[in-house]
Amino acid sequence: MHCPGRPSGKNLTPVRAGTGTDAQVTDFAKTRALFHMPEGVLYLDGNSLGPLPRNAVERVRATMVDEWGEELICGWNSAGWVSLPRRLGDRIGRLIGAPAGSVVVGDTLSIKVYQALASALELNPSRRVVLSDSGNFPSDLYMAQGLLASLGKDYLLKVVEPEAVEAAIDESVAVLMVTEVDYRTGRLHDMKALTAKAHAAGALAVWDLAHSAGAVDVDLTAANADFAVGCTYKYLNGGPGAPAFIYVAPRLAGRARPALSGWFGHEAPFAFELGYRPAPGIERMRVGTPPVIAMVALDAALDAWDNVSMADVRRRSLELSELFIREVEARCPDLALASPREGASRGSQVSFRHAEGYAIMQALIARGVIGDFRAPDIIRFGFTPLYIGEEEVIGAAAILEDVMRKRLWDDPRYKTRAAVT
Ligand SMILES: *Cc1c(COP(=O)(O)O)cnc(C)c1O
Repeated sequence: MHCPGRPSGKNLTPVRAGTGTDAQVTDFAKTRALFHMPEGVLYLDGNSLGPLPRNAVERVRATMVDEWGEELICGWNSAGWVSLPRRLGDRIGRLIGAPAGSVVVGDTLSIKVYQALASALELNPSRRVVLSDSGNFPSDLYMAQGLLASLGKDYLLKVVEPEAVEAAIDESVAVLMVTEVDYRTGRLHDMKALTAKAHAAGALAVWDLAHSAGAVDVDLTAANADFAVGCTYKYLNGGPGAPAFIYVAPRLAGRARPALSGWFGHEAPFAFELGYRPAPGIERMRVGTPPVIAMVALDAALDAWDNVSMADVRRRSLELSELFIREVEARCPDLALASPREGASRGSQVSFRHAEGYAIMQALIARGVIGDFRAPDIIRFGFTPLYIGEEEVIGAAAILEDVMRKRLWDDPRYKTRAAVT
């Protein structure tokens, strides 16, 4: 086949190193300008779905029109589509303390949870217990339940309260599988301490960074994590359904057997051999054909992080969260803080409890303050310094005060639940 196209690798954004210094290097006024925000909206839900990065529109358009449109199948080589999973993995790796070549992007987070857990269990073949906690996101627990059911009856998923995880790590545990930041309360696990405790007990640690990547200053290398997974549509702003990522510690990447052995994780996908042989390193965690258009949107979104230090993001996120807690507690005495008060024990979200939480959130959304509701009684607000500042925080607290004082939530319109909350 004759492929005229462009030379391979053109248009690829280089990976830039972070700074890691103490002085603030991040210009949040600049990052804010990179995002589209609808008029009149105070968006405190970037922890569920990040907003549209302005550059993604043109980048996706160019991929569709110039690459898919003109280059057709040649785009896999000429436009570098085939290497997107690895290249995006390196860009995300910089934000989570993972070295180049240890992260790959693809599939959904639920799939990546399955892969990480399956590989971790195989690396610890004499044990049968997966330890998790009740603050984990249900899909992670569901995936574990499905995997363990197909592995055999003697496997056990042990789910304890988040505060009881540390004490529950013993020599029966094969794998500790937890989400660093609790999706409801924002409670932050101590990744380094729990991983060390797991290792001392002979267990492996799988970390879900769904509410950490782009939110807290994760350092997978310093924490000595074995596996980590996360999604890119929350704080990383990759767009609805954007693909997930998986990290395998370099010391394990050549030994971890992929449970989902698809052709793109094969050492030589285009040799079309009948038998599976895993690719040498992290590429073995790829499964099938990557969703190129979604990955290009994510690539564009990751540009916003190029000159950002995660230490600055963490510092700013805590300032904004603390401001919100102060404002809401002063204005809304009926709301009970559901998040840890101590910043060091909290991710980048703040939650409050109220029996009418669902209706309160609907009343807020009707007034332009977008957060979300998590059953049974949690209203949740995410703080995303890349595009949210003090004006939004104080503005949202003032509208919340209005909704509470005037009982604006007490309206039948706000009490009928939609499919997605
Ligand atoms: C958001 C989230 C998910 C969602 O998984 P998908 O497969 O992307 O739908 C899974 N786990 C955790 C911890 C999450 O926060």
